[in-house]
Amino acid sequence: MINIKNLHKSFGDLQVLKGIDLKVEQGKVIVLIGPSGSGKTTFLRCLNLLEIPTDGTIELDKKSMNFTKPVRKKDITSFRSLTGMVFQNYNLFPHKSALENVMEGPVIVKGVSTQEAEKRGKELLTRVGLGDKLDFYPFQLSGGQQQRVGIARAMAMDPKVMLFDEPTSALDPELVGDVLQAMKDLAKEGMTMVVVTHEMRFAREVADEVIFMDQGVIMERGTPDQIFSNPQQERTRQFLNMIH
Ligand code: ADP
Repeated sequence: MINIKNLHKSFGDLQVLKGIDLKVEQGKVIVLIGPSGSGKTTFLRCLNLLEIPTDGTIELDKKSMNFTKPVRKKDITSFRSLTGMVFQNYNLFPHKSALENVMEGPVIVKGVSTQEAEKRGKELLTRVGLGDKLDFYPFQLSGGQQQRVGIARAMAMDPKVMLFDEPTSALDPELVGDVLQAMKDLAKEGMTMVVVTHEMRFAREVADEVIFMDQGVIMERGTPDQIFSNPQQERTRQFLNMIH
């Protein structure tokens, strides 16, 4: 589903991603961990082309982008629609209801009829436990509920891959569980997911593979058990000791 080769990203002189290679099979859940500043968010943003990589290739669902040459805006838009992104701070439209937030993308970007988008929006919001909050505005929802609207909104575009950038780190602890549950449900349904998170229990329970990033490279990767119980690299051990 995803095949990334030699991905680089710099901001001016700052090299943030220094040659990432990663293959992800369809239906797998990958959890990215690593110290702050190691490039996890930049990596996710490159997958969704919110940042344009400076070198390398990304193949997603058999569509390929090569970043050695300048990329065209049209290609960026169509490539971006293959992925759905869930942000740390929800990024909902504040003046639109939960349902309107979920309908916006399909109607405006994909040209889906209002009626069809509404039906699907209701289904998706019900799936994340918000069937009774369709007409609520973001300010009337808890952080956890807003984040679940964010998940439904990303899913409404029928992405091939869902990307999560620390989806629970802005939430009060008691609101984290419902968001993680919505993510677990997606994983169970076979969605391919790349998740940046500090929720190690989620990683243990749901990830097929855990990737430890440090200073712009993949330092170590393995099953949750390999990474958490038997890390091979000293840097991985240090990081895990620090967060436990
Ligand atoms: P992480 O998600 O692992 O904490 P980030 O990808 O957010 O790491 O950041 C990696 C590095 O890239 C940091 O040094 C950060 O300051 C830098 N960086 C991220 N985005 C930008 C940007 N738009 N412009 C300049 N530097 C950036």
